[in-house]
Amino acid sequence: MKIICVGRNYAAHAKELGNDIPDQPVVFMKPKSALLQSHTPFYYPEFTNELHYECELVLRISKNGKYIQERHAANYYNAVSVGIDFTARDLQKELADKGLPWEKAKAFDNSAAVGKFIEIGPGFNKKNINFSLYKNKELVQQGNSSQMIFNFESIISHVSTFFSLNIGDLIFTGTPAGVGELVVGDELEGFIDSEMLLKMEVK
Ligand code: ZN
Repeated sequence: MKIICVGRNYAAHAKELGNDIPDQPVVFMKPKSALLQSHTPFYYPEFTNELHYECELVLRISKNGKYIQERHAANYYNAVSVGIDFTARDLQKELADKGLPWEKAKAFDNSAAVGKFIEIGPGFNKKNINFSLYKNKELVQQGNSSQMIFNFESIISHVSTFFSLNIGDLIFTGTPAGVGELVVGDELEGFIDSEMLLKMEVK
């Protein structure tokens, strides 16, 4: 399986990091070794002094495909959860300033935390998914799928032009505003509506 991530998919977040609003999805990947399940501790990596959380909606791909048209894209995923795109922000800036790829800052071991998935049934409104992240019981990020610059279907169509999608692949769909720093001992809880799907501690 692979993990595909979209960057700068919420206008307010693009702005808070000083980036322009993209006219195409900003796409990067994380390897399978980046995957971290909920209720597993996250160990603060030694190569950063500025670890950030980015809470995101995560889609689970349920059908293999390539060159998927937007109008068919809804058939290619069947579940959603919240995840955390752990980011070594200091390293990311350093790499970006040099025009280098940012994998070391974004795709390291355990950098893609995912919560429990919710199946997307017929009555599920994908255009209005509320999600949130609490740090030490305090609300730090809140988003809604309606605020995405590129919606689920448009992301799937775009990325499948470049990468075949396979059953079990995950897509991190971007973070809303409010990203911030983590220290050892922080406790994170991710929600869709009032359901807690992800919980972990930084060790
Ligand atoms: Zn992200």
